[in-house]
Amino acid sequence: MLCCWNSGFVGVAGILEKAEKAEKSGEVGCPNLQENTTMSGGKQMMEDYENKREVALRIAIEAGVLEQCEDHDECVFEGGEEIKQAYILANSKYSAGEIEGVFVDRPEMTNIIKEVVEDHPASDCPLCDKNKSD
Ligand SMILES: [Zn+2]
Repeated sequence: MLCCWNSGFVGVAGILEKAEKAEKSGEVGCPNLQENTTMSGGKQMMEDYENKREVALRIAIEAGVLEQCEDHDECVFEGGEEIKQAYILANSKYSAGEIEGVFVDRPEMTNIIKEVVEDHPASDCPLCDKNKSD
């Protein structure tokens, strides 16, 4: 096993002894190594997912399915178009290779677009609405 246990020469017996102790205490493998692997793996997956959602959001906005408030970048709400317009646009981009490497395949792409659109059910910018009613 290549991890911090191997730093410094402890010999095979030493490594086995450490492994045995770790096993008894309930640790599996090198704790530092495990933590790093889990964390970076999870983070990478989250970043991928965020990136996919970001691309899906851009497509939905470009297709007019969602609208982004001019005053509030973070506010995205329903545009006037049917969601299928976003699928059509996404598929043409996919075919043109414009979003290569973002989605695993077309079904994943349409799933995430659907998800992103459903996540923004407001019909107006809530912040603008708030300002108006003030
Ligand atoms: Zn707004």
